[in-house]
Amino acid sequence: MKILVLNSGSSSLKFKLYTMPQKELLVQGLIERIGEESSQIHLSLEGTVRESSETIRDHRHALEILEKALPRFGILSSFEELGGVGHRVVHGGEAFTSPTIIDAAVRSTIEALIPLAPLHNPANLMGIDAFAALAPKVPQVAVFDTAFHQSMPSEAYRYAVPESWYREHQVRRYGFHGTSHFYVSRELARLKNSPQERLNCITLHLGNGASICAVRGGKSIETSMGLTPLEGLVMGTRSGDIDPGVHYYIHRTTGKSPKEIDEILNRQSGLKGIAGSNDMREIQRRMEQGNESAKLAFDLFIHRLRKYVGAYAVLLGRLDALVFTGGIGEHSAPVRQALCDGLAVLGIGLDSTANDAARTDARPIHAADSRSELWVIPTDEEGVIAEESYRLVADRRKDSPSLTPLA
Ligand code: AMP
Repeated sequence: MKILVLNSGSSSLKFKLYTMPQKELLVQGLIERIGEESSQIHLSLEGTVRESSETIRDHRHALEILEKALPRFGILSSFEELGGVGHRVVHGGEAFTSPTIIDAAVRSTIEALIPLAPLHNPANLMGIDAFAALAPKVPQVAVFDTAFHQSMPSEAYRYAVPESWYREHQVRRYGFHGTSHFYVSRELARLKNSPQERLNCITLHLGNGASICAVRGGKSIETSMGLTPLEGLVMGTRSGDIDPGVHYYIHRTTGKSPKEIDEILNRQSGLKGIAGSNDMREIQRRMEQGNESAKLAFDLFIHRLRKYVGAYAVLLGRLDALVFTGGIGEHSAPVRQALCDGLAVLGIGLDSTANDAARTDARPIHAADSRSELWVIPTDEEGVIAEESYRLVADRRKDSPSLTPLA
């Protein structure tokens, strides 16, 4: 069965097409600058990249172009041939604790959650609606970034604010990157050949957005992002934790509006705010050349991370492993080294040779006498979306075999 995975942004559409259940990747690509004069199309197929540009009006137009392009590569004659489509949906609120087939009620719940994710959920819905218009018979599945964290206990997900903020306005911690934290914690159990129910681990998703998660027996019990992805670690352009009093103080002293301040905390802060770049490679390069702001950005990033690892180790009680993933987690040996240099109090020791090895596969990097294991595990959010979509579509076909024939 072929499953298409879509990640729709406000002006972009990322896709991967798989044959399931083998999880064989057939083609992937990205359509950028949708709605602008010159939209860019990148397709990557069997190791070759094809790029072109044309005016793409909207998400539906982007999908029409994709549907026309695929037969040229002999991959698919039309979208009708797909077994299903899986969408990354950012915010599932308290309504969704697992992936779900999208029907009218699910669609309107995703829409009702727009106030919690005003940038992301509308973009995700554009992808869902555009696809439904082109191939209404193909089942669509939503996989939520927040769902994995719905297992957090109330003392972890509630803020100490008036009860009415939670009851009336859904102000609580939701957490994000759930698909990634789920995947790498499950991979850890598989690689260690150990039942997930018995494993306690901390997963560190360190990319341009970054979050950390305490996973007990396969379930998220705490994570660093909150109501929005702004809370927690220092990120590429986001501040992470700051005193909430800063908002009003900056408003009073500069006259900036709440919206402007939110924008600055999300887009002009983090590594970029301190060192002018949100690219960790650039920060590391400049740090080696003695640049002080780059060193401060790096140190702040590590300091915050270390505080969270210490806190989550205490919450878990027993820490079997720490897992690094995301662009920085997977590729930055200096970040892993600097973090682990400060974790001796937990009995954690890094094998520096394994850490420095130029490898991109999943691998252990702990010293032989380390109390907890250390792993680098490349994330695969799209692979999980494909798996979950396949599982739900195949289950539905078993229940109602007349729905759509197996591809
Ligand atoms: P992501 O959002 O997961 O794609 O990760 C993006 C981040 O990973 C950026 O900050 C990149 O600078 C960082 N990154 C990618 N490759 C490397 C590398 N080899 N060393 C350090 N940082 C890297």
